[in-house]
Amino acid sequence: MPTVYFDHAATTPVDPRVVETMLPFLKDDYGNAASIHHMGRKSNVHVETWRGKIARTIGAEPAEIIFTSGGTESNNAAIFGVLQSRTGKQIVTSRTEHSAVLHPVEQAQKMGYQIIYADIDEHGKVTPEALESVLSENTALVSLMHANNETGTVNPVTDLSAVCSRHGIPFHCDTVQSIGKIPVHVDDLGVDLLSMSAHKFNGPKGVGALYVRSGCDWSPWVHGGSQERGRRGGTLNVPGIVGMGRALELATGDMAGNITHIGKLKTQFKQGLRDAFGDTIRFNGDVDGGMHHILSVTVSDSRGEPLDGEMLLLNLDIEGICCSNGSACTSGTVNPSHVMLALGYNEEMAKSTLRFSIGKSNTTDEVDQAVRSLKEIVSRHTVLSL
Ligand code: PLP
Repeated sequence: MPTVYFDHAATTPVDPRVVETMLPFLKDDYGNAASIHHMGRKSNVHVETWRGKIARTIGAEPAEIIFTSGGTESNNAAIFGVLQSRTGKQIVTSRTEHSAVLHPVEQAQKMGYQIIYADIDEHGKVTPEALESVLSENTALVSLMHANNETGTVNPVTDLSAVCSRHGIPFHCDTVQSIGKIPVHVDDLGVDLLSMSAHKFNGPKGVGALYVRSGCDWSPWVHGGSQERGRRGGTLNVPGIVGMGRALELATGDMAGNITHIGKLKTQFKQGLRDAFGDTIRFNGDVDGGMHHILSVTVSDSRGEPLDGEMLLLNLDIEGICCSNGSACTSGTVNPSHVMLALGYNEEMAKSTLRFSIGKSNTTDEVDQAVRSLKEIVSRHTVLSL
């Protein structure tokens, strides 16, 4: 049975053109970019070439880009790197952030920092007014994401960063779900720090970057060798960096076409689900204004009872369809998605959520198939539980 993959917010396949660009660095050009000999210098030249291209793509200077192992490390380095450079003891964030922001700030709380969660609107957005109302002289950092990974809701980052800039507070933005998909430019967004991760835009896993605006209160978080001009220790992942650069170049070049194609599939998906389920399907987040690649739904049976999202996900998987729910499985217990709870859903509703995330290689037939399968699974379940 062919796989139908609707989990591109979790990860994406590496674009074959990216693989081609990476291969020499996995085979013959394996020099350590810090080595002085010609093999090392060759790797270093490629790292610097791609650093320059990545920087240009987001409107940054090459020296403002630090390569990391991915979005999680970039977020940790952004948060702790700022906290250790400032005297303030408060961190402002939101309850809908990814755990790669929430867990580091909870860790900071154990170290004596106070976390303040800015209020969100019904779609999960933080408004500039909500942000302004919680800032104080003691705010060390604001960390708010660009696009939410579960609902696709997009924060008004330019307006949020303007508030921070008026108060002289560094603004970190997790752009892991937006970069390569919608325009991300550090000056347009007004961010001081920005996280990215290659595997979300058809690049390799385990590589990312942190942008730190020149002059921002920040100091290194990962200590080790003197790589990255002493700002992040560790041997550079040369194939990964080259692959990330190429993947971002391709994603940016293909952006308009991808937005059109994926956006059409999302519209078809929504319509198909509406036709199949009528009022028993609920679309979560900013369904029309949010990211074109994420569709989050809460499914109920014909009696209006929320269906277990995990049961639906596993049944879809049996039919070859990969999607996701926001629930986290800890020690055998399924916890409802913190994002859905933050949006005001009760536990049962939060657990009945499914996320379909669309990629550039998906087709209209695959959307039809997913809708058909979900309809069959739900009606089978409804008959069984009557
Ligand atoms: N931030 C967001 C919004 C994400 O969606 C993810 C991954 O799901 C991460 C951070 C973590 O990125 P990585 O998997 O590269 O550590």
